[in-house]
Amino acid sequence: MTPAMAPRGDGVGLYLHVPFCDRRCHFCGFFTRSRRGDRVAAFVSDLLAETEWHGGTDTLRGRTVETIYFGGGTPTTLSSGQLLSILEACRRSFVVDPAVEVSIEANPASVEESFLRELRDGGVNRLSLGAQSFDDAELKAANTPHTAQEIVQAVGAARRAGFANLNVDLIYGLPGQSLTRWQANLDAALALAPEHLAFYGLTIEEGTQFSREAERGQLNLPDDDTLADLYQEGRNRLRAAGYLQYEVSNFARPGYACRHNQGYWTDREWLGLGPSAHSYLDGARFSAVASLEEYHRLVSAGMPPVAEKEPGTPLLRLREAVAFGLRTVAGVACAPLRERYCLDPIERFREPIERLTRDRLVVLHGEVLLASDEGLMLADDLAVAFL
Ligand code: SF4
Repeated sequence: MTPAMAPRGDGVGLYLHVPFCDRRCHFCGFFTRSRRGDRVAAFVSDLLAETEWHGGTDTLRGRTVETIYFGGGTPTTLSSGQLLSILEACRRSFVVDPAVEVSIEANPASVEESFLRELRDGGVNRLSLGAQSFDDAELKAANTPHTAQEIVQAVGAARRAGFANLNVDLIYGLPGQSLTRWQANLDAALALAPEHLAFYGLTIEEGTQFSREAERGQLNLPDDDTLADLYQEGRNRLRAAGYLQYEVSNFARPGYACRHNQGYWTDREWLGLGPSAHSYLDGARFSAVASLEEYHRLVSAGMPPVAEKEPGTPLLRLREAVAFGLRTVAGVACAPLRERYCLDPIERFREPIERLTRDRLVVLHGEVLLASDEGLMLADDLAVAFL
């Protein structure tokens, strides 16, 4: 019999999945649907019902919501009134920290200054723009809904609306991308002086247009050496511009690391709401159904829209905490994990720690296990050693 996981009482995050996009980007594997008025209104009503259902149960009893994150999809396909009604439902249903970080993902083509001002006035205090690239040819090839000019306009609108915590997401390794093109992308992003910048290597997700093109041999992807050069170039340029790296792909001005996303790498728990949203609560991981119809059916029946649940064991959670924690520059603090799981990570993982230390990929500083600069670039490989 596996030992039961003890309920936790520490702070949590809330993730809200808004599953609509105006168009499907060729690299995107997220659960999204095209926007239709009746579909959107029905979804908002279901999301409000799901939020209130959790508020009436023990789901987050005794726990404070420290961060709220609207992701998707494109949350800004909803009206400001709809988004703020969801935020209000969260405040009514849960205990929310007065200093809560409220982030919203936005597509640069879908934001007007007045809309952003309404969000800002309603308590949204962090805006994350999915820029992906500043090269119109790259954007077109990836079928994104926006142009480079619209990214610049969106940043201007966000600033005028009062957003002082702005993220810009980039993707490197897009088809045909050279070092010179990538440098131009980085320069264009830095010129906008966001407080936070993230860059992710392109992954070819199953079922996407890019995956079909790759299967047909029609996608000119950079090789591994070029990818390593692009990553290193991004890291060097952002560091030189005064950004602090705090995770493999994430950089911020001091004080602007995304608290919500940090939770994913530091074994903090969260509740996900909306179709396809993932959750991690009281040691269990679960995901919601990836279907608007099924989501509606379950929520209307007053049932949690859970598709899969994995209860986990202390050892599995410890493995994940170390694997995810090694993605962070701060590394894995072993003492709290030892206390939480009654297992000693340094003892339990002595063999991989010694091997990776010999390979100069990790360093053990007292009670903190850290990836080296080189190890950080190989974070996915490091994770395998612990999972
Ligand atoms: S806008 Fe974002 S969520 Fe929508 S298809 Fe493009 S990458 Fe995916």
